[in-house]
Amino acid sequence: MNIYVKGHISCYELEHVARLFYPKAAVGNAAHGAEVVAARLSAHHMLAAVRLNGKCTVRLAKRDLSLNAKQLEYAHSLMLFNLLCDVTATRPAWGMLTGVRPVRLIHDMHRKNMPESEIEAFFKQKFLVSDEKYALAQKIAATQAGIIAKNKPRSYSLYIGIPFCPSRCSYCSFVSRTTAESAALIQPYVDALCAEIEDIKATAERNKLTLETIYIGGGTPTSLTAKQLETLMNKVAECFDLSAVSEYTVEAGRPDCTDFEKLCVIKNGGATRISINPQTLSDNVLEAIGRKHTAQDILNCFADARKAGHTNINMDLIAGLPKDTVSGFEKSLDGVIALSPENITVHTLTLKRASSIVIDNEADAYDDVAKMVSLSSKKLADAGYAPYYLYRQKGTLQNLENTGYTKSGSECLYNIYIMEEVHTILSAGAGGSTKLVKPGEKIARIFNYKYPLEYLSGADEMHLRKKGVDDFYAKYFDMDT
Ligand code: SF4
Repeated sequence: MNIYVKGHISCYELEHVARLFYPKAAVGNAAHGAEVVAARLSAHHMLAAVRLNGKCTVRLAKRDLSLNAKQLEYAHSLMLFNLLCDVTATRPAWGMLTGVRPVRLIHDMHRKNMPESEIEAFFKQKFLVSDEKYALAQKIAATQAGIIAKNKPRSYSLYIGIPFCPSRCSYCSFVSRTTAESAALIQPYVDALCAEIEDIKATAERNKLTLETIYIGGGTPTSLTAKQLETLMNKVAECFDLSAVSEYTVEAGRPDCTDFEKLCVIKNGGATRISINPQTLSDNVLEAIGRKHTAQDILNCFADARKAGHTNINMDLIAGLPKDTVSGFEKSLDGVIALSPENITVHTLTLKRASSIVIDNEADAYDDVAKMVSLSSKKLADAGYAPYYLYRQKGTLQNLENTGYTKSGSECLYNIYIMEEVHTILSAGAGGSTKLVKPGEKIARIFNYKYPLEYLSGADEMHLRKKGVDDFYAKYFDMDT
């Protein structure tokens, strides 16, 4: 499928609408007779057309000369959206809404004191979001409101990235190296990370920042040895007052590199929350995504985590994985619910260019994903879990969402802070993105080097870049806040 747009100053919204239905469509002229979604604006008309399976469907409307460029783009997008809904007999649940943070839109509108009726009209009438998805976003916004209100202007979270994994999953688009190909880099990486954490401590002190949460993610942090993990967590404990931190998460990720010893190291190192991510409890699907472990290994890892004293555990599932079915997904969901973790996060498979799923072109088979997502929201509600954070990603199957569910009182603060851009995140490690936030007003970013090798040789340059943190606080914050 090709996307052809002509006559607008910006094509973004029209291309987004086309990609809701054809996520892998390429932009540009189509060969004669090829399948195409077309939108053309002329001096007097708006045209939307689809050529599919040799059949062409066209809609034509008079151009409203009173509209400005943005309004015209919206009107034309709406026309194209309705045409594509009719031609494909599907209606995306998030309608035409773009952006990864629908809940953030609600918070922003509340900050502007917009009446609820206007917020609802924005979602449901302007962007055609379904009743179900609007209710979900509203529910999450209400849950988050109390947590966000407690945030102080100079609060921040610390993110530490470990870009190594025992093997690469077929759907992965992260900057992550296998431990086998990076063996010689891992110890130097841990040493460099410890130095950067000291640097961050000094930066935070200079700017009078208060640490709220810590998150060690990846990659797979437990791909480090128990000793390396201990070194890293000791450094964190030495630099920061853990007793004053509200939450400390370590992603224990995959059972093929997470044993009882590491789970104890994490617990003794001060973590208050871990994540064990099955993605599925089907051996068949685990094999299809390139995991080198079984579902039983996940259950054993969870039991070990409880034995090691972890009382706040998240488990991730992914809807739409290769070889999975609606009933298979339901079994995975039931299996995870039976373990009774404090959080369950349901992701929708995302088709990023860097993942081998895209390269293998296998994605077309996964058309039951919407049923899986609906099923998870119903089953988790029945099991006593409430949604507490949500985000969307470009390239997600059927443009659906990723939703974190929680037992009452176990919301992951870090997930809310980062997703709703509530406060600054200072990041350490390769691929780290430091996000500087003045709530509701200003956001700036400082990037670390992306790959471990560059990260190791570029410490001085990153130290210089991080001076931007001081500049941000000096420029945008009063001395006394
Ligand atoms: S565990 Fe996560 S980061 Fe590692 S390869 Fe799999 S998807 Fe990528």
